[in-house]
Amino acid sequence: PSSPLGHSVIPIVNKLQDIFAQLGSSSTIELPQVAVVGSQSSGKSSVLEALVGRDFLPRGCEICTRRPLVLQLLQTKRKADGAEEEYGEFLHLPGKKFFDFVEIRREIQAETEREAGMMKGVSDKQIRLKIYSPNVLDITLVDLPGITKVPVGEQPPDIEARIRTMILSYIKHPSCLILAVTPANADLANSDALQIAGTADPDGYRTIGVITKLDIMDRGTDACNFLLGKVIPLRLGYVGVVNRSQKDINDNKSIRDALAYEENFFRSRPVYNGLADRCGVPQLATKLNLILVKHIRTVLPSLKSRISSSLVTVAKEHASYGEVTESKAGQGALLLNILSKFHEAFSSMVEGKNEGMSTS
Ligand code: GDP
Ligand code: MG
Repeated sequence: PSSPLGHSVIPIVNKLQDIFAQLGSSSTIELPQVAVVGSQSSGKSSVLEALVGRDFLPRGCEICTRRPLVLQLLQTKRKADGAEEEYGEFLHLPGKKFFDFVEIRREIQAETEREAGMMKGVSDKQIRLKIYSPNVLDITLVDLPGITKVPVGEQPPDIEARIRTMILSYIKHPSCLILAVTPANADLANSDALQIAGTADPDGYRTIGVITKLDIMDRGTDACNFLLGKVIPLRLGYVGVVNRSQKDINDNKSIRDALAYEENFFRSRPVYNGLADRCGVPQLATKLNLILVKHIRTVLPSLKSRISSSLVTVAKEHASYGEVTESKAGQGALLLNILSKFHEAFSSMVEGKNEGMSTS
């Protein structure tokens, strides 16, 4: 199963990586991190999981995410026989490969308890998990504990301030994309997610609004005004989603079934028909992918100049040994030419003029 996040970006990044490899450099494109913020049980972990397309995060109606989970997706080469090998590895268990994603979830829970106790305590010490798969984009996602107001269990009286500080330490970085998750069955105008995202990103250049739980809104209400940005405008806009309910989780409903249910939910509700581009996990993935493509386009010129200067260095070195540099220089020029074509193709992709791109 391929991850919705990255399906259109992976081929581009792969081609660029091939170009770098030909130049003997592994100079890769660093993509922005994506972090989810919001109040407890707003659906943050559910949204991340849906974007990755695999079940492995602890989710539930109680506080589940009690330590930041830094999830690094790493693309591996497909095996020669076409078999797909996907596995996870934790920083705290080096060398141990988890092929069973249910085991990954158990280990996240166990490791949460080791550090943050059994009693709902929260810790800012990260859990770091790498997921290796041929179907993912090299990107880092961060699942964060939710904002909570009333201390429970072993939580200290200043739990809210502590969690806010922890969240801000991630989302304050200017390159971090923020998914601000607000449940549609709560008062949207009081969204903790939008409030804290606004602190870190006041101009809204890197905040996407995600409205969850559209399926359990009060009868007779809908989220249209929010999705349209009429209540709290956001430069990058909103996407509404329907994830699995607690009952679905208890019944082990699959991601595939959840996506089909979501699609049908939006299709069968006339109020959302005109808002198809703002509804559903696939739309959220598309929005993120477009932002990533724009990001790549922005960093391309500096990559190009880095390559140019490394070519110059190589040429000088060769010259100092009195070697023939023509073929090397010719190859370099060709690659630069290809990169320029990439740049043009990106520009038209970003402007939505064409989807395909060719480097021939
Ligand atoms: P987090 O605390 O923000 O990470 O939230 P979770 O992803 O753990 O979800 C909290 C609870 O809300 C779980 O019981 C989920 O099943 C439920 N949930 C999340 N999203 C939705 C949704 O879109 N619809 C419904 N009905 N339940 C949801
Ligand atoms: Mg969570």
